[in-house]
Amino acid sequence: MSASTEVLVDFDEALERYDPALGLEVHVELNTATKMFCGCPATFGGEPNTQVCPTCLGLPGAMPAVNGKAVEAAIRIGLALNCEIAEWCRFARKNYFYPDMPKNFQTSQYDEPIAFDGYMDVEVDGTTFRVEIERAHMEEDTGKSTHVGGATGRIHGADHSLVDYNRAGIPLIEIVTRPIVGAGARAPEVARAYVAQLRDLILALGVSEARMDQGNLRADVNLSLAPKGSGVLGTRSETKNVNSFRSVERAVRFEVARHAGVLDAGGKVVQETRHFHEDTGITTSGREKSDAEDYRYFPEPDLVPVAPSREWVEELRATLPENPTAKRARLQAEWGYSDLEMRDTVGAGAFGLVEETIAAGASPQAARKWWVAELARRANDAGVELAAVGVTPVQVAAVQALVEGGTINDKLARQVFDGLVAGEGTPEEIVAARGLAIVSDDGALGAAVDKAIEANPDVAQKIRDGKVAAAGALIGAVMKEMRGQADAGRVRELVLERLS
Ligand SMILES: [Zn+2]
Repeated sequence: MSASTEVLVDFDEALERYDPALGLEVHVELNTATKMFCGCPATFGGEPNTQVCPTCLGLPGAMPAVNGKAVEAAIRIGLALNCEIAEWCRFARKNYFYPDMPKNFQTSQYDEPIAFDGYMDVEVDGTTFRVEIERAHMEEDTGKSTHVGGATGRIHGADHSLVDYNRAGIPLIEIVTRPIVGAGARAPEVARAYVAQLRDLILALGVSEARMDQGNLRADVNLSLAPKGSGVLGTRSETKNVNSFRSVERAVRFEVARHAGVLDAGGKVVQETRHFHEDTGITTSGREKSDAEDYRYFPEPDLVPVAPSREWVEELRATLPENPTAKRARLQAEWGYSDLEMRDTVGAGAFGLVEETIAAGASPQAARKWWVAELARRANDAGVELAAVGVTPVQVAAVQALVEGGTINDKLARQVFDGLVAGEGTPEEIVAARGLAIVSDDGALGAAVDKAIEANPDVAQKIRDGKVAAAGALIGAVMKEMRGQADAGRVRELVLERLS
């Protein structure tokens, strides 16, 4: 189905008639040293098909064994999400054929997840939404197919396909929410905030790199609409592998508009998977999917059940890091941020980066200014996550130190950031190579001031007559002459000295 055949209803108008229900399924790729059921390295980026063995290739007779570190990570994630931890649970075979899954089944948990019945409180604009977690279960990743030739990178139109099994068998935790209702017009923001907060939690636990751009953390966004006040759930669509916070929000927004268009026309929403397109912000149809899809699950006969002792679970509970929400409140007070400043910082995905920048020596206000105003804009323009903008917290602190030391000003600092993004070296090296240091030498400044006075006799006369406010025009002329690199305070002093 192409986008042009779809009637979209204005988002706000749609919410006058319908209640949205969200559901989020997030896959987290763990950063264990080895795979879920074999000893192959689980590192990213190796030459294709070099990190494989009979077990993860599904060769006959190979015997899997559960990775204890992955179970530990699953339990810690479950505990951090306020879940119950199963006393006994099993893996199952989820049977289906796909070329990047050599066993022809995925080893997953089915009706016996390791963690269940939890919640996470998500904050949006000062309002707290409780997102209930139905389950968090262990499974393994598939390999990766690459479709070669053709315009879209999808299988249709491709000349041939390649498959890399390095990723096959990497441990995954799938975290599934219960339907999130009652968010109304805030549904897109709630979805985004949930994924962002979940990522913070995963990073705090240290169990995954959680990089959405590398697929360490992948979100499937389910959405349905029901007539307002009906209290039922409508038919849902499932938008797969949405890979940034912003895209999560946009995908929900688009699906609300699309579902409302279908329902307004008296149509039925098709239960299906959909693809989100970063460039256009729309979703397109994937494949139809019914609830009754039969994967012929059965308990995995080659693996023993997982039965974590209560003592171990309590030990792991004691190792949990500070809850990110509590931590946020503590640091807001410590940094002296207003609610709005904090919201902007978190909303920009800058919280952890600001924290690291402060730890590297910058003041809280300076750290916020650079990340939220300057660098977030650059990330947005480049269409990348803030952490991938090309500047590190340590570098931001170093740039700010140069500003505070009077070597550069805020305006020149932006050029230093240009240099950092371009990989031109350290902030100090960039200032030297680009000749950005502020001139405060009286000889050079005095000459420029004299020139400005000569070029603006009317302004000079006003200042002589006591209109000190007119000095701004001369300072501006000097700054322009010196390409923004003059010490503005010293220029002002020199102007007033000469004209008093
Ligand atoms: Zn292997």
